[in-house]
Amino acid sequence: MPNTHQFALERPFQLQTLPTDGKQFHPDRDVAETEFKALRKEFVQLQRQLYAEDKQKLLIVLQAMDAGGKDGTIRNILKGVNPQGVRVHSFKVPSKEELAHDFLWRIHKVVPARGMIGVFNRSHYEDVLVVRVHNIVPEAVWRPRYEQINQFEKLLHDTGTRILKFYLHISKDEQKERFQARLDEPDKNWKFSREDLEKRKFWPDYMAAYEEMLHECSTAWAPWYVIPANQKWYRNLAIMRTIVNTLREMNPQFPEADGDLDQIVIE
Ligand code: AMP
Ligand code: MG
Repeated sequence: MPNTHQFALERPFQLQTLPTDGKQFHPDRDVAETEFKALRKEFVQLQRQLYAEDKQKLLIVLQAMDAGGKDGTIRNILKGVNPQGVRVHSFKVPSKEELAHDFLWRIHKVVPARGMIGVFNRSHYEDVLVVRVHNIVPEAVWRPRYEQINQFEKLLHDTGTRILKFYLHISKDEQKERFQARLDEPDKNWKFSREDLEKRKFWPDYMAAYEEMLHECSTAWAPWYVIPANQKWYRNLAIMRTIVNTLREMNPQFPEADGDLDQIVIE
């Protein structure tokens, strides 16, 4: 049974002791990529059934440091999936209108509907990460959010949404290499942001914030997975395994045909 990297609730972890390197979990990149493609085919099929069944919902949350691989994960995981059945939402700095509401308002509006898969590129967790690290609101405001998030996710779960949360764990060295590539490669220049360099200075504070988030918001109904993400091929495989396993458990079925179709004659 391959390691799923599910964050264990009971054991006190330090994030810095959790692996960023996927190579130790899989010996061979080619084999991993072959397995990944086979699983993706199965994912495409299961998604069709989920959509046709029109009962259950799946929400996939992606969080990571800048250059952690959220965009690449979405590109790789969703390739070939029927776009009608999937919605990707990228959460940016909140607008004035969003800030005038509670922090879950903009999130709740776009959670997946029946039959749908929702993918969050960043999420409500930014409100206990960037917001905490940069003191955008005082602790008296962000600390109660852990519990508010747990209750919100419980509501989604109780009303038919399976939730998978992936933290893509890269090392600080890996982030440096990826930022450097954004400087060096013309077609990656657009991704380079001076702000990201500012945030990099707060790396230990971000790790502390992620660590507490994992401890406070890993629940039975909405588990966190800490994915070793330095190697993209391993990251893709580990995430895809968890998604496909979850969809197998959800076991979506094509609806029953409408009566006896054998009797129908089309004029
Ligand atoms: P990107 O993912 O590169 O498009 O950048 C989106 C930016 O929006 C990141 O710098 C996030 O930290 C920021 N962001 C997302 N959600 C929030 C939030 N709730 N409060 C403040 N900043 C946020
Ligand atoms: Mg960015």
